[in-house]
Amino acid sequence: MHSFDKDADHAAVDKVLAYARERLLMDPVPLDRPRTEGELRELVGETITPEGLGATRAMDLFEHTLAQACLSNDHPGYLSFIPCAPTREAAAFDVVVGASSIYGGSWLEGAGAVYAENQALRWIADLAGLPDSAGGVFVPGGTVGNLSALVVARHTARNRAKAEGTGARPWRIAATDNAHSSVVSMAAVMDAEVCGVPVDDKLRLTGDALRATLEEHGPETFFAVVATCGTTNFGVVDDLRSVAEVCREYGIWFHVDGAYGGAGLAAPSVRDLYDGIEHADSFIVDPHKWLFAPFDCCALLYRDPELARVAHTQEAGYLDVLTKAPEWNPTDYSIGLTRRVRGLPLWFSLAVHGTDAYVKAIEGTLDVTRFAAAEIERRDYVELVREPDLSVVVFRRLGWSPDDYQAWTDRLMDEEFAFVVPTTFRGETLTRFAVVNPHTTKEHISAILDTMA
Ligand SMILES: *Cc1c(COP(=O)(O)O)cnc(C)c1O
Repeated sequence: MHSFDKDADHAAVDKVLAYARERLLMDPVPLDRPRTEGELRELVGETITPEGLGATRAMDLFEHTLAQACLSNDHPGYLSFIPCAPTREAAAFDVVVGASSIYGGSWLEGAGAVYAENQALRWIADLAGLPDSAGGVFVPGGTVGNLSALVVARHTARNRAKAEGTGARPWRIAATDNAHSSVVSMAAVMDAEVCGVPVDDKLRLTGDALRATLEEHGPETFFAVVATCGTTNFGVVDDLRSVAEVCREYGIWFHVDGAYGGAGLAAPSVRDLYDGIEHADSFIVDPHKWLFAPFDCCALLYRDPELARVAHTQEAGYLDVLTKAPEWNPTDYSIGLTRRVRGLPLWFSLAVHGTDAYVKAIEGTLDVTRFAAAEIERRDYVELVREPDLSVVVFRRLGWSPDDYQAWTDRLMDEEFAFVVPTTFRGETLTRFAVVNPHTTKEHISAILDTMA
């Protein structure tokens, strides 16, 4: 039996770290491709056995079969959804996080790590122009970030209605159809209702349309407005300034979902699109999307963290030693109790490279996106659907049916050349590039467009 024996443990650690080192330094990374369950069953068989496989066999199965049946999100030709392309430093530091057994929920247990995470959060808060009092926590993803923020918004609105004796119990969230699917899903979790606001001709949420929706349904029935800075499908940034003004006028919580696009705050060439974000009551950005951190990492920030603490702190006798302490306990600001210090890979990479390198890398992806848009305009067989605001470009291949798009996608994936899936907008099948990987070059873009001719 492969027991917990010291020599075997050392050998296993060496094997795992050797693989991690190799993968972290791999250049180029292979795209790889999925396999059917039947294929994997045949190739891998049963792995959980009473005696154990031993490190050599288990690692071998992972390295030579299982890992190769997973797409590498950091491949430069992976341009679907929103890819994840961490810096080597960030990805390597994730190994340290795993090795360190740090409980990231409380200051008492994770002070050093929480201090470092909070510095990374501060950098993001400063980019958004949030006040010194702002603070938050790294959560697993934008979905949990949106849910956590909306729970605080509702808690705050209902407490205020109670204090004012109005008897109101607001249950509605205002957002456009372009808001992320997680907003609708998390509203369902909260038993809240998302009330659709029509977009303008640039596909943006605006203050005027928001005001009309609030008036139509009764502003007292709303507890939050969700604006997006960088919609997932198109990268559209809502008109945050006018939306912020309407939120302030009605006293409704202003949440900004920047899960994908929030990183653009660091890029001078697009910074003015975000004008008004400094008024957000809460704001999220996923460093695992466009800030070069590994999965899974979302920065959740509140203008007034005390409101979040009141809404989220879990009370239990055995937790009193933590919750009654005056220090910053990250777990008090979101859904969830036990917490991995998932902000540390971002922190380490930021500390190593400095923020200027981030500005440059983000501007680099924007430059490649602008090149892609120009190439699409130049070629007669493809057509831009909308000028990109950020680093997503959506386009059509003239004359292609949905089946043609899918066949093209499958071919590029089978060849392990690129991963570019179709998307739909207003009933039409299209395709899109999401450029968040600094290793995606203009040459990659041209080569992919060539395959559509
Ligand atoms: C990706 C995304 C989310 C969800 O984030 P997860 O990390 O996938 O949970 C929410 N909002 C927007 C705008 C996104 O792009």
